[in-house]
Amino acid sequence: MTVDLEEWFHAFYEADSGAWDNLESRINRNTDYILDVFTKHDVGATFFIVGWIARKYPELVKRIAGAGFDIGSHSDMHKVAFGMSKQGFMEDVKRSVSTLEEIICCKVKSYRAPFFSITESVIQYLETLHQLQIEVDSSICPCKTVYSGYPNFPEYGPCFLEIDGWQIKEIPVSTTRFLGQRFIYSGGGYFRLLPGWLIKRCFQSKNYNHSYFHPRDFDVVQPDYHASLVDNIKRKIGVSGARQKFEMLASLLQFTDIQSANKLIDWSEAPVVKISPK
Ligand SMILES: [Zn+2]
Repeated sequence: MTVDLEEWFHAFYEADSGAWDNLESRINRNTDYILDVFTKHDVGATFFIVGWIARKYPELVKRIAGAGFDIGSHSDMHKVAFGMSKQGFMEDVKRSVSTLEEIICCKVKSYRAPFFSITESVIQYLETLHQLQIEVDSSICPCKTVYSGYPNFPEYGPCFLEIDGWQIKEIPVSTTRFLGQRFIYSGGGYFRLLPGWLIKRCFQSKNYNHSYFHPRDFDVVQPDYHASLVDNIKRKIGVSGARQKFEMLASLLQFTDIQSANKLIDWSEAPVVKISPK
């Protein structure tokens, strides 16, 4: 189980960070809801946190870590990886990781790019994580999404990525197939859209489920904002019924965080995906 800890306005694809300080903050109350559900159902989870959020709300980060949840990085300024140079990506990850480590006094060992934006064209950017001793990447979505995705990536579940002689562990978000097409059932807007019975069936039929949520997924009164129509539909669709499905899911299976999953996975049996950067 994972949560991408970000504000409602981080749903917008084109980051206008200059406006963020002037927008209503809803992250504390929305995160409280998630923490309550996780505590009630004894859910272990990793919170991938945006560096900008951590600097603004260090007490929230401390509260999450203090409650025993695992902390990973969700970039510093929530920009898509494929929109940056490799150097820019490295600087963004470094700043995020140092911000988080200063607050939690503990090594950050996992990372997820905004919008699952480690695509085929920038897969070699993960070298930065290898250099920073981040053990697990969780940035790959093995299907097409609205803005991103890596539809050619094998649906192995946890695997090693091997690129240019170095390796990193990948714990990707899980997908399923319908009429031959891959789709996400396990989190975000896809989870909000699908009916509860179908979500339940997908989760129960698989031996690998990797969920991801955002605090805004459960916020029915998000402010209006002049974003693109696609972004506004994406952030609001299915929100009204999301809490009920989320609580059903939390009680359905035993969830754990990325670090615990890393220990539970038999990595000696994990496939190695060898990639030749283009
Ligand atoms: Zn995000």
